[in-house]
Amino acid sequence: MLRYMFYNHRLLLTLIFAVVLSACANRAPGGYKLVKLNSENHNSRVKIIVLHYTVSNTARSLNILTTGEVSSHYLVTNDPSPKVYRLVDENRRAWHAGVGSWYKYYDINSVSVGIEIVNKGPTNGDWEPYGDEQINAVAKLVKDIARRHNIDPKNIVGHSDIAPQRKQDPGPAFPWQQLAKQGIGRWYNEDAVRQAELRFLESDNLPDAEWIQSQLRRLGYATPSSGVLDKETVNVLRAFQMHYRPELHDGTPDARTMAILEVLP
Ligand SMILES: [Zn+2]
Repeated sequence: MLRYMFYNHRLLLTLIFAVVLSACANRAPGGYKLVKLNSENHNSRVKIIVLHYTVSNTARSLNILTTGEVSSHYLVTNDPSPKVYRLVDENRRAWHAGVGSWYKYYDINSVSVGIEIVNKGPTNGDWEPYGDEQINAVAKLVKDIARRHNIDPKNIVGHSDIAPQRKQDPGPAFPWQQLAKQGIGRWYNEDAVRQAELRFLESDNLPDAEWIQSQLRRLGYATPSSGVLDKETVNVLRAFQMHYRPELHDGTPDARTMAILEVLP
């Protein structure tokens, strides 16, 4: 009796297995027999989150980003109650970054999610401030994407970080420090920066161009190795300041900028 039950049990399992397998094997649209299994061995294509401003208003931006030659995964509006539009699936490659690089990544569109934020950027030298509600929406969105793709905080960047020779967005009005307080992106220890700044000021001796260039490269920026403070290096310094010391971003290598360069992890 026991033996009979055992065989019966095995037969039942075999039958179930066969039914499950036949359910998995489907005709793919290409006409071949497709069996779908789920390997555990894969990871996300997304390594970087890139923030932009649109310059244009919501309606015009949506039009450009859906019918023009550029796109982004998301657009965050500047309404009193901001909306987040999803324009491109995160698994797909949107066209937002253009020529640029960050650390070892050179094809940024292939490894990033792009977020456009409705903001005018600079008008007659003044930068339009970002509203609190809009920044709240951006923060929630970035946090969600960063968590799902396990993004390294240093890889949450602005367009100007990955393309400092061409781009200024999201600009010095973007509150990176406020986001950093919510655990979004890379920031520095203020006490350590103040100490380093004091040391540079007291010694009256700022680091040379070669050191500045190597620090910028260490922090992910594509920077020349010329050993002189050329125009390209000043552009990178300006992008660095817009992100980490936005109150003054003229590309001057002052003590405070040198201190942040040294301390930033
Ligand atoms: Zn941009």
